[in-house]
Amino acid sequence: MLKGKTALVTGSTSGIGLGIAQALAREGANIVLNGFGDVESARASIAALGVEVSYHGADMSRPAEIEALMQHAAQTFGRVDILVNNAGIQHVARVEDFPVEKWDAILAINLSSAFHTTRLALPAMRAANWGRVINVASVHGLVASAEKSAYVAAKHGLVGFTKTVALETATTGVTCNAICPGWVLTPLVQKQVDAKAAALGVSNEEAKRLLLSEKEPSMQFTTPEELGALAVFFCSPAANNVRGVAWNMDGGWVAQ
Ligand code: NAD
Repeated sequence: MLKGKTALVTGSTSGIGLGIAQALAREGANIVLNGFGDVESARASIAALGVEVSYHGADMSRPAEIEALMQHAAQTFGRVDILVNNAGIQHVARVEDFPVEKWDAILAINLSSAFHTTRLALPAMRAANWGRVINVASVHGLVASAEKSAYVAAKHGLVGFTKTVALETATTGVTCNAICPGWVLTPLVQKQVDAKAAALGVSNEEAKRLLLSEKEPSMQFTTPEELGALAVFFCSPAANNVRGVAWNMDGGWVAQ
């Protein structure tokens, strides 16, 4: 379905971003990877799907590096057809204890980076009259949890940004939507599982059960594969008129 298209997925060396990149690659899209850590495994997992893959190591907190990433994608593949704004970090602390530099980093990576990539991707999408901007927000774009002020503020901002871009492109073949996962067992969440296990003196399995039972009625983690399938749906012709939604995949979290 996506043969000949190019997808740029920020923060795609791990977790949800990698799951979405793999799902888009399975549909035939060429992939631009970004992020830190085990780049070679991520690259190999995409190449094994028979598409072209490129990597750029831009730090998504830095606008000049984001510009270089967008130029790299355009130079390598011509243009970006599918932009997945996924890079994100978390920090957990009460507002009065929240490190100022963590606040700034979370706002920059989880929110402002989506503005910088989108503003640079839209002209070519408009010219082609086809494009998909998919923002990986969170249930925390819809509801709050204590001790996650920066993350909740950034993700609510990202949902608002999604709606604005959807309105500005509403009469074109470009759509913009957000995905709002509940708990997904990635390195970002494993850190929170580890913190809970240490704080309560319980096992890893018990900490996971406690984490789910606080928020997620299904008592199941959403998977990167399920989120990848939702991203593929947003790229399909069936979703041509799906615009500005914040689609939660959260085991019933925000239904409560
Ligand atoms: P993860 O830690 O597994 O992956 C994060 C990715 O972002 C990695 O590839 C990492 O290298 C990259 N990254 C981090 N800082 C970066 C920076 N400055 N520049 C470039 N890349 C950077 O986390 P994940 O759980 O897969 O999270 C992906 C997205 O999903 C995030 O936006 C997160 O907020 C969102 N999310 C996660 C969950 C969850 O339960 N895991 C739930 C809702 C939303």
